[in-house]
Formats: sequence, structure tokens, C-alpha cells
Amino acid sequence: MSNLVLNSELLNRLVDGTESSKDEAYQIYQDAEKDPTELYKVAQFLRNKNKGRIVTYSRKVFFNLINLCRDTCSYCTYKSEPGQTKISMMSKHDIQNLIALGKKYKCTEALFVTGERPEQKYQEARTWLKQNGFVSTAEYLIHASEMVLAAGLFPHTNAGNLTKAEMKELKNTNASLGLMLENSSERLSEKGMPHEFAPSKNPKARIKVLENAGELRIPITTGLLIGIGESPFELIDSLYTVKDIHKKFGHIQEVILQNFQPKPDTAMKKMHSPHEKYFKTLVALTRIIMPEMNIQIPPNLSPISYSDFLAVGINDWGGISPITPDYVNPEFPWPSIEALNKNCANAGFEPRTRFPVYPEFLSFVNSDLKSKMMEMADFDGLVRGEHLK
Ligand code: SF4
Repeated sequence: MSNLVLNSELLNRLVDGTESSKDEAYQIYQDAEKDPTELYKVAQFLRNKNKGRIVTYSRKVFFNLINLCRDTCSYCTYKSEPGQTKISMMSKHDIQNLIALGKKYKCTEALFVTGERPEQKYQEARTWLKQNGFVSTAEYLIHASEMVLAAGLFPHTNAGNLTKAEMKELKNTNASLGLMLENSSERLSEKGMPHEFAPSKNPKARIKVLENAGELRIPITTGLLIGIGESPFELIDSLYTVKDIHKKFGHIQEVILQNFQPKPDTAMKKMHSPHEKYFKTLVALTRIIMPEMNIQIPPNLSPISYSDFLAVGINDWGGISPITPDYVNPEFPWPSIEALNKNCANAGFEPRTRFPVYPEFLSFVNSDLKSKMMEMADFDGLVRGEHLK
């Protein structure tokens, strides 16, 4: 039994272990608009109860394999057009060079990111694939994952809406996969909305991929993008969508809550990032809706205040790279790992390094991959300190 006694009857029931219904979550959100203090307390309580005081991150190297993209999201600065200086089309040689750098800096995760099926739109992408010996980006990803795994890095691929067959192949080498749901509201795909020109962001298509991953027993990271024109109720609906998928398959290893940041070269450049109180309230609501979930905010997108999010229920910082930029948010450098760990410890938490698969999902991973990780793991299934020096 907890000593935490609150004025809100709804929140008291959560402390006692009752799940919130969607309507109750709406009510809790509305109450928190007036005063979020009790919600934050419960989120903190539930994180401590389910995750203890450990806060994790994954030490990664970011492979920006190809950033041409078939789709266009109104907030995206990652996507390049042919001829732009930011274009990335990595050769196998580039991959080998970055592997060497990743090993030198003691990274454990190889994050592969690509645009959505660039070969469907761009001759440049088809030529690049052909030069490297492939016909699709997914084929190249399968090969690149084999390359990094052979070198001792653990792949985590985030390449948009992969087919079930492609995911099945990637499961052989990838510790986990990633696919942001962004939001489950179809309204955000309507005319004038951020996903109007991004059919891959249609929530039905994304949900199908998340379900396919569940059928394949692939640990998957998903998440929501907050502040792109959604209503708070659409965000709460989205959280229940994620919760329902996870209830069915048990494979969602992590939920990222990403605060939108306007980029000067995008259609949404004049929109504001969400107010921090709104963002924190959504983070805390995520914890009360999914008390046992791993919940992450990217610390580089809240550079001044990221430590404060430890008080609203998060238990992870995601992938942090000591060598490569965040190509999705290039104007936001990651904090140094030393500073992150220090801030975490100062707030009374124990910072630890994880693999791209969370310990509780290691049983989903094939035995070869698992044994490779276990050689470097401690009793908690996290990376042993000696591999980080
Ligand atoms: S967010 Fe992803 S799908 Fe949308 S334009 Fe950028 S790379 Fe393409």
C-alpha cells in the first residue's frame, strides 16, 4: 500500500493499481490543465514502482543510410532532395568507416535510419542501390545490419513502413526495430495537415506495421510526436492505440514522446513547439495509462530542462551518440553522456547503458544475437561498465 493520498479520486485509484479508462484519462488531463501537481506525483510514483531508480540510455552511432524519401511530412528537415548539401547516401565503405568510429567510441547500438522507400520516387536512389548491389533500401538494410553485427555493434532499424517479409529478415540481425506512430488521428492526414503528403504516416498503415511486428515477436519502439496540430484528446486516443496493440502482442518495448520543434526549411517553420507544461502533462499521462512501459523523451529536444522530466515519469533517454549528430533534429546536439549521467545522478537516479533491446525483451531476440549481447551484459541485462571505457 502506498502512503500517497491525493484529492483526486481517479488518481487515488491508479495508485491502488486500477487501470484508467480512456474517459478517465480525458478527465485527468482536464483536471491537470488546472493543476498538474497530483498527476505528476502519481506518474513519479508509478515509475518508481515499476522501474525503480534506474534511468537508461543507449550509446549509439547514427547511420544516415539514405535520406531521400518518397513522402513529405510538413515538419521534416531530415528528408533531402537530390543536389542538397545535406543528402546522405552511404556506401558500404562509408558504413565500414563509421563502424570503426563507433567501435572506437564504445558504442553498442547501430541506429539505421532511412527515408520511406526512396527508390519508388528517385532515380538517384535506384542508381545508388544498384551501385551497392541491391534493388531496394530494405535489401541494403538487411546487408548493412549484417555488416555492423559482424563488427560487434547491435542494429536497430527505423526505416518507415517495412513489409512483414522485410521485418522477418531484419529480425535475424536487429535487436529491435523502430516505427513512430506519431498520432493515430486520420485528421492529421487531411488537406493542410502535416501528413497530407505522407501516405506512410496514415495511422492505419502504421498500426498494421506495428501489429506485424507483434506477430513476428519483434521488440519495437514506437512513439508520438507532440505539438503538430493534434488535440490533447487525439494524443490520449493515440496512447490507448499503442496500449491496445501492446496488450495484444506484448512487444512494444518503449514509447518515445517527442516534442515538435519547428525547422526553418519546412512548411511548419512558423508553428511553435509545444508548451512545456502541456508536454509534461502528456508524458505523465503516458505513465499512468501504461504504468509498466519504458517511456523516453529525447534530452536534446529539452536541452535546459530534460532532468525535470524525471519527475513526471520517464525512465529512458533513448539513443545518445558521442560521435554522430541527430540527423532528424540537427540543430539540437545531444548532451554529453557525462553531463547526462551527472544530471541523472544529481536528481537521485542511477544512470545505466542499455542495449537497443530492453532487458525484459531479450527473450524475443534470436539466440545468436542474444548470446552476443549476453557476453557484454551484466546481471540486469544492461551493458557492463568495462565495455564503455
Ligand atoms: S518524417 Fe520520415 S516519412 Fe516524413 S518526410 Fe521525413 S523521412 Fe519522410
